[in-house]
Amino acid sequence: MRCSWRPGGTPCKPQLEPVSADIAPLRAFVVAFGRLLDTHPDEDRIVRDGGALLRRLVSRDSWLPDAFAQADPEHYRQYLLHADSTERFSVVCFVWGPGQATPVHDHTVWGLVGMLRGAECSQGYAMRDGLLQAQGEPVRLDAGDVEAVSPTLGDVHRVRNAYDDRVSISIHVYGANIGAIARHTYPPGGGRKPFVSGYANALFPNLWDCSAELPNLT
Ligand code: FE
Repeated sequence: MRCSWRPGGTPCKPQLEPVSADIAPLRAFVVAFGRLLDTHPDEDRIVRDGGALLRRLVSRDSWLPDAFAQADPEHYRQYLLHADSTERFSVVCFVWGPGQATPVHDHTVWGLVGMLRGAECSQGYAMRDGLLQAQGEPVRLDAGDVEAVSPTLGDVHRVRNAYDDRVSISIHVYGANIGAIARHTYPPGGGRKPFVSGYANALFPNLWDCSAELPNLT
């Protein structure tokens, strides 16, 4: 499957490709994350225990199907890998082309970011004297690293690919169907603009064909 950046790009043209049985780690992750949320954890425990689950997921780089690792030449892409049936959480693959970056933006819900390939840099922002200003040093995530954002931990940042010559990929987990909720970007001139990010893909990876993992019955 190949999809263009939305909105404004050409329509998705699905090309069905086999999904590797290596997708099993992603299935195990979404099942474990759902079970964690079944216990109604507070944010600290989501960051600690959910972060540990994400750290385990991004410790291996063999499970992401190539269809969801394709960069766009102009913009970073957000591929939805899984959405919880009651929208308690979503798992999104961010594919950063060389030098690509977000605008300054917020999330409005908790989020966990795990680096799968390459590296990214996140610069936090906070209001000071009525102006949004950079706060602290940029945080660099290399493959295997995990960080958290939220309205209580710090929710406004700008993220960029740490590399100008290669693609980087991060796996994000949010406490909502993140592509369908109202958020904000913060233009350099001040103020904030509402936006809803949507997703780059129209089709999901198939987490649930476990047939290749079953014992051979013949
Ligand atoms: Fe973000």
